[in-house]
Amino acid sequence: MDGSVEDGNNMINSDDYSLIDFIEYADDNLFAKANLFYEYAEDYIDKKYFTFFRPMLTSCSPRVKIFDRYSGKPKDMIMMASNNYLNLSTHPDVIRAGKEALEKYGSGLCGSPILCGYSEIHRQLEEKLARFKSCEDCMIFPAGFSTNLGILTSLLRKNDVVITDRLDHASIMDGAIFSGAQFRNFSHNDTAKLERILRQYEKKEKTGKLIVVEGVYSMDGDIARLPAIKELASRYNARLMVDEAHATGVIGKTGKGSLEHHGLEGRIDIVMGTFSKALAGMGGFVCSGRKVINYIRFYARSYFFSASLSPVVAACVSKALDVIQAEPDRRERLFENIRYMVENLTKLGFNAGQTQSAIIPVFIGDDLVLRKMSRDIHKKGIFLNSIFFPAVPRDSSRIRLSLMADHSREDLDQTLNVLEKTARKYGVI
Ligand code: PMP
Repeated sequence: MDGSVEDGNNMINSDDYSLIDFIEYADDNLFAKANLFYEYAEDYIDKKYFTFFRPMLTSCSPRVKIFDRYSGKPKDMIMMASNNYLNLSTHPDVIRAGKEALEKYGSGLCGSPILCGYSEIHRQLEEKLARFKSCEDCMIFPAGFSTNLGILTSLLRKNDVVITDRLDHASIMDGAIFSGAQFRNFSHNDTAKLERILRQYEKKEKTGKLIVVEGVYSMDGDIARLPAIKELASRYNARLMVDEAHATGVIGKTGKGSLEHHGLEGRIDIVMGTFSKALAGMGGFVCSGRKVINYIRFYARSYFFSASLSPVVAACVSKALDVIQAEPDRRERLFENIRYMVENLTKLGFNAGQTQSAIIPVFIGDDLVLRKMSRDIHKKGIFLNSIFFPAVPRDSSRIRLSLMADHSREDLDQTLNVLEKTARKYGVI
């Protein structure tokens, strides 16, 4: 096999494998694993289980049109998988701000921020975010993923220890590994376990300690026990970092995130977030003290050696932040939708976990059942995310619904109806 597409003969029954099986693979041919994986993917597609990489033909609104690989035609669907929680990606003011920035700056600045990739729009957005998160300073990365990589690899050295929640996002885990620091983790939200780890490092000299948690967890939608974690961090002289990717714009009385929700504004050492959820763009940010931000600017390689976020996106995100504050009814509508959906899923007999946010997990457990359900649900016009091991622990594969403020009651009812019928067919409820 030389790695060309023609090599695939569909010799693999995809039902017997998952993504994890194509990582460790020893062979003289570097591409052998890709060839094998291709056969797996082909069989997966032949069975019509493949509901990934669906080309969108419209914006990410409650009703979308996609190109359907199975019929070869455009297909109308209800979008239940986007993190565009407040529907700001299509807000007229956001679009106008983007257009103005495009006219003024062109499509991109084509350089790292330290060279030519830093504009007035970037600085204004940094200042606005620092105020929004009650921190001294802020800096912007071109992706949320590279933000976490940059923070952790710039601040941690091999004598330090980083302690993560086991459900933290891959970008946090990779940042922790790449930093070379000692790396420990505790079971999800288990503060007793966290304290046991902290105690082991209490007397260690020259060992900086960093705890990293998510304000809202990306796969389960539940929230971190931040007051207790903050108290432990203070008691054991550890720094605390909170990833606010899914909390920003959603959680807290005015949408400022989980620090506002817990009354901890201005009291967390490092606050990180992404622009790719409620802020309806792409990119990431980190807020902290002025000296810490200044240090990260010079030592985060994923910032220093990477071209900056386009000013067009920076302008859209900056306007989105204004809209979040000016239009609180969006968050109200979102939470009304969350309440309605959780209540009705539970009534139908689904396990919707402990969500307190716009992410609603619907636990299925069995990978093969979920593959079949995803196929049927897609066919019936509902666009949702199916999450399998290794993205979530084994036996906890799930459907993940992401709600938006603009979902109508009809959108939600239609989704509930399809979920109910499909789940009954496979004996899930
Ligand atoms: N942190 C969390 C908690 C996330 O869920 C994500 C993305 N889903 C990221 C970081 C990475 O952000 P981005 O997709 O904006 O790169």
